[in-house]
Parts: sequence; structure tokens; C-alpha cells
Amino acid sequence: DARLTERFGRDLNESQRLAAFAPDGANLILAGPGSGKTRVITYRVAYLIAKGVPAESILLVTFTRRAAREMVGRLESLIGPNASRVWAGTFHHVGNRILRRAASMLGYGANFTILDSEDQLDLIRLAMDDAGLFGTGKMAPKPALVQHLLSFVFNVGRPLAEVLAERHPDLESWRPQLEKAAEAYASRKRAANSMDYDDLLGQWGRLIREFPDQLAAQGRMFHHILIDEMQDTNIVQVALVEAIARAGAGNLTAVGDDAQSIYRFRGANYDNILKFPDRHPGARLFQLEVNYRSTPEIVAFTNASIAHNLSGFPKTLVSARSAGVRPIAVPTADAYEEAEFLCQQILECHEQGVALNRMAVLYRNHHDSILLQAELVARGIQYTVRSGLRFFEQAHIKDALSYFRILVNPRDDAAWRRVLLLLPGIGQVKAAAICEHLARAADPLALLATAATMALVPAKSKGFFAGLVADLNKIRASGPETNPAAAIGALLEGGYPATLRVKYDRPDNRIADIEQLGVLAARYESLERLIAELLLAGDVYGMDTLAEGDSPAEILVLSTIHQAKGLEWSRVFVPRLIEDSFPNYRALGEPGGEDEERRIFYVAVTRAMDELYLTYPLLISRGGRGPSVVATPSRFLTEIDPSLYEPVVLETEFDVGWSRPDQD
Ligand code: ATP
Ligand code: MG
Repeated sequence: DARLTERFGRDLNESQRLAAFAPDGANLILAGPGSGKTRVITYRVAYLIAKGVPAESILLVTFTRRAAREMVGRLESLIGPNASRVWAGTFHHVGNRILRRAASMLGYGANFTILDSEDQLDLIRLAMDDAGLFGTGKMAPKPALVQHLLSFVFNVGRPLAEVLAERHPDLESWRPQLEKAAEAYASRKRAANSMDYDDLLGQWGRLIREFPDQLAAQGRMFHHILIDEMQDTNIVQVALVEAIARAGAGNLTAVGDDAQSIYRFRGANYDNILKFPDRHPGARLFQLEVNYRSTPEIVAFTNASIAHNLSGFPKTLVSARSAGVRPIAVPTADAYEEAEFLCQQILECHEQGVALNRMAVLYRNHHDSILLQAELVARGIQYTVRSGLRFFEQAHIKDALSYFRILVNPRDDAAWRRVLLLLPGIGQVKAAAICEHLARAADPLALLATAATMALVPAKSKGFFAGLVADLNKIRASGPETNPAAAIGALLEGGYPATLRVKYDRPDNRIADIEQLGVLAARYESLERLIAELLLAGDVYGMDTLAEGDSPAEILVLSTIHQAKGLEWSRVFVPRLIEDSFPNYRALGEPGGEDEERRIFYVAVTRAMDELYLTYPLLISRGGRGPSVVATPSRFLTEIDPSLYEPVVLETEFDVGWSRPDQD
């Protein structure tokens, strides 16, 4: 034992060693960012295996699959190939493996399908129909909302009635039908031998509740359970692992930081970590107070930021590193200049020898990255997007561009189809018939509003169809050299937003995305140029297929903050630090919303190792809609003692470089 602690202890400091080599039982490591929490549980697993604990009896739960792969890779370098036998992965990943073995006990086939979000939505729509939600003469709740609601109800482990009363009083009158729809959805899933993501936890929970021998077996199987990022677990996940640990040896190590809890919208609750000692009397608490990641200047700034939160477990965090530079705050004239500054600074760091994959731009909202993406493409800087779909791949962006593709090339059949399928009441068959009809004409646009075309449009779609015709005509009226920003403005003022609201969830976010597209479009002199540019950009945007693997040295990382947790980069850029964007104005309306937003900011700034750049445009434009307005710098910046960062003033227009005022 002494030899092992000697061997692995070399890479750890004294308090990290105590935590990594803690005795069996319940252990909690509650510590700030960069203090080595992830390192400690990785070493704990290595230590356990080296001590003789079979690798396959260890369950290591991580927040993403990427994190699991990284930890297993590190383990392999410490203890060899045995490491790959550890059960390492996300809750869903582990649930899936367990359920494949036990599916028949639960009435499923072992070949059950996992539904992705889109499949799930289709089934929910059918279930809502089963439950009589449609055709009542009242506007039924949208399927996507019902999807979110059912998932939230599951993940917070509370009855639908309570969640409705608290979050959706407007839907309370639908409660009986929604309860019925939930049942219909469950039986449709069973009939189709399918599980959604939540079922991977829910059915796992059912398995251990209904089959005591299964619970006992899992207790034996998972002799040690370790959980990273505990602050972002929800009650369902915690109940699962705690039941299994109780049934087994009771060896449970939880690791996390309540100040980095940022998934409340998915039911995460940092009480899971703060109340750990109450649920596990006798649990040992370990605190780590040395930050190995960031310079003292960055740690001073981030400590000052999180101190503004009303709630939180107090922690001390001191940097182990030697002095560096203070975080740099940069106001830019507008969002274009912000994107240019970022690119320029990234190139400058690159010239100083920092590889692109050691830098990251972390933003609060995905659409805040669009101008930057365009600028990176223009400058030939390769990047990968770690957050969801690439901007131009999102359905509503493709929709908007399809309108313009039609105007540029009225024979663009795919664009026609896309736009027609948007209209409620028009499915594949109708869309195909209308396309075929239009394709026969020399000028499909001229044919659009004729009686012959109208005859092909189903009665309930006629209103939406007329909206489409009006939008296209309005944009076209300004001629072939239509100003792209004006075209997007016209689209936003026309019938498209109404269609979008019927068709998609999160319509406000999507409309904001299209406004952002308008900001980008303003740079191009014609629609034709805009579309061509975006198509040519395809090559570079295609790089993000690499997102799941290791990113090669010469690719910059773009990510939402939510996707960046646990990671670190030498240079971190946090753009769009203005009120309404960050903190996000909708989040501010919710109780505890400001604290949650500040935790998101805290996660962003604590990713930086050497240099941190905070940028904020002074003027902000709302796309094709009216003039720019003055933006207010984010409270997350203005509330910080100005001595803790370096204010930088850009000298003039872009491309001239910038200077630090104290050097003038
Ligand atoms: P987060 O809260 O962001 O997930 P964390 O507490 O998990 O952070 P780690 O990612 O484990 O922190 O460690 C942060 C960085 O510090 C890593 O690069 C890690 O290798 C390094 N580090 C941690 N402990 C030590 C140590 N004792 N000596 C040298 N480097 C260390
Ligand atoms: Mg970590």
C-alpha cells in the first residue's frame, strides 16, 4: 500500500493524496475549478485497481462520453490496458449497457431502439392525438413543449400537476389530457420496443425497484462508484447510484463544485452535492484549495466574480502558478469589430506559438458565434464547433436561406420543397405535387399565385401559402440586387415568423438566430453573394465532425459554455459580454436566475490557464430590423473591481492593433 501511494502520490499534493487514497466508504470532494478533482478521482481509480480491486467492479460516471474517454486514456497510461474494463461513461451510457442485459425482465427486447429527439417528438405528437389534445377548437400545446415538459417532470421526479402549477399555469387546463398523453406516449414506446434517453434512467430505476435480486447484483457488481461533476446530477440519477451503493459495499465517491452547477434547466440540483453529508452520515469531506490550472491573476478575477453570488458553499482557491497577465477586457465598436478583434488576437497568439487547439471561444448563446464563424472562414482559420448543430445546419436557418435560394434560382427544387413543407397541412405528397406543377413553368414565381396552383393547396394551408407568396413577392419587388439584410428584415416582418412559431420549439431563440443571420447578411451586396459565400464556407464548417475526437493542433475550438465544463485551454475568449446576452434576459426572469447565469460565467472564465479575453460590443444591431442600439456592458464585468482586469481600448478601426492604456 505504501508503495502504491508512493507511486501515484508523486503527481498529487497532500490534500489531493488524502482524497485519492481515502479509505472505503462515502467520500465527498467539494472543491473549486482547476483544483484537480478530476485528476484525483482518476488517480483514485488507478489506486483501487493497483490495490487489487477488479477494474470491472468500478463504476466511474462522467458528464460526457468525451470526458470518460479522456479519463480512461489517462488510466491506461497509469495502470495499463486493464483500465478499459472500468465501467466508465455517462448515466445514459451505463443505463443502456445494463438494460440491454435485462430488457426482457422489463418487457422489452434486448434490441430496443433508442429514440433521438426527433423520433421522440413524432411519437409524442401521435400520443397527444391519442389523448385528444388536437381538434378541440382550442390551440393545443406544442409537441416540443410537451416533450420538454414530460422530460422535466421525469428528471425532477415531481408530479406533472406540481410542475404545471409552478412553471406553466397557462397549461393547467390541459392537465387531464397531458396526463393521458404521457400514458399514451409510454405505451407507444413500449409497443415500438423503444426507449428515449430518460427511459435509460427510468427503466434502470424500475429494474432495481421491482427486482430485488437485480439491485443486489448491481450492488455487488459496482463495488466502487465514483461520480465526477456531481453538481450537475439530478435527483433521478442520484437516487439510482445511491440505491446501488447502499445495496452493495457503500463505496461512493462524489466529486464536484456547487459553484459550477449550470444544468438547472435539465433538472440538475446542486443540493445533491451540498446535502451529500446529510444523506451519508459519516462521509468524509475533502477540500482542495490549490488551483493548478490558472494564473494568480485569473484566479483573483474568478474568485471575485463568484463572490457576488448569494448562495454557495464558501471555498478558498489559491493559484499554484507564477504570475501572468490580468484578464483583458475589450470594448469593440460593434459585433463585427468584436469578431475581427477575436480573429486578430487569435492569430497573434498563434504567431506567439500557441497552437489553435489550445485556444477556445466560449459563448453563452450559440447564435452569438455566427459573425465570428464568418470571420474565421474569411481568414481561413479552421475551427470546430462543439455545441450542437453548426449554425448554418440548423433547420430554421436553412429555411430562411431557402427563401433566398428560390429568389436567386427559382428552379431550386430542394429549396421549394423545404419552404413548402414548412406550411402546416402540406406534407411530402402535396409538396411534391406543387413542385412538379411549378417546375413546368418558365417562371415558377409568376405561377405561384394563380388559381391552378391554389387548387393544389389544401384548404387549411391556404392562409399560410398566401403568406409565403406575399413574402417572396415582397422580397423580390426590390429587384435582383436586393440588399440581403433588408431581405431578412422583410422575412422577419412577413409571414415566416408565424410559420416558424407553429413549426418549431424555442421560436424566440430561432427568431434571434435569424436576426443574427441578418447581421451577417448586411456585409454582402446581394443575396446571390450571400448564398454563394455560405455554400463555399461548407468545407471549413465541415470540420466540426471532429468535435467528438481529439482536435488536431491547428483547429480552434468554438463552444457553448455548457459544453466546455471540465475542460481547459491556454487562451480563452468570452465574447458578447453585454446585458441581455450574458446574463441572458430570459434567465434573469426566473428565481435564482442571476446566480445560475453567474455560475455559467464562472465556468467560462475558469477554463482559462494563461490568458483570458472578455469582449463586449458597444453597439448592437438586431439584424434586418432598424438601427443599432447602445449595449450595456455585462454586470459580470462591471461588478468586478477594475484593478483585477486590464481595460484595453482599441486604437481606431480594425486591423490596426490595440494598445494597453497604461503603456501609452
Ligand atoms: P474543474 O472543476 O474545472 O473540472 P478540476 O478540479 O477537475 O477542475 P482538473 O481538471 O483535475 O481540475 O485539474 C486542473 C489542471 O491542473 C489539470 O491540467 C491538471 O492536470 C492540473 N493539476 C491538478 N493537480 C495537479 C498537481 N498536483 N500537480 C500538477 N498539476 C495538477
Ligand atoms: Mg473536473
